[in-house]
Amino acid sequence: MAGKDDSSFVTKPGFCPDCGSILPLLGDKGGVTCYACKKEWSSEVFGDMIMTLTLHFNSKHTYKSAKDADSNKDDAEGPVVERRCPQCQNDKMSYATLQLRSADEGQTVFYTCTKCKYKETENS
Ligand SMILES: [Zn+2]
Ligand SMILES: [Zn+2]
Repeated sequence: MAGKDDSSFVTKPGFCPDCGSILPLLGDKGGVTCYACKKEWSSEVFGDMIMTLTLHFNSKHTYKSAKDADSNKDDAEGPVVERRCPQCQNDKMSYATLQLRSADEGQTVFYTCTKCKYKETENS
């Protein structure tokens, strides 16, 4: 087994740089001991086998900034929803909700066409 000198020895990750034996998996302390030559190596011997896991946190928290319609005037610009205006066929209307005096009445939603300002109400 002669001929190859040390400088041309390719140290592959996971193999003992000294004797070329395959190394066991990383131990708890972050190093390994070669089975063959009993030398201890740090985790660096694995080179790029050590991968750093990057956790991607999903920061897409979409909080609606629209405050609950607090007794808006019915012509106030509210949140816009997709709703077809019966008058001009525009498909966007802003809305505001209003709780009527009697709880039995439920909630009334006021829609205002963003285009022609047509108004309609809907009781829920
Ligand atoms: Zn070794
Ligand atoms: Zn309209």
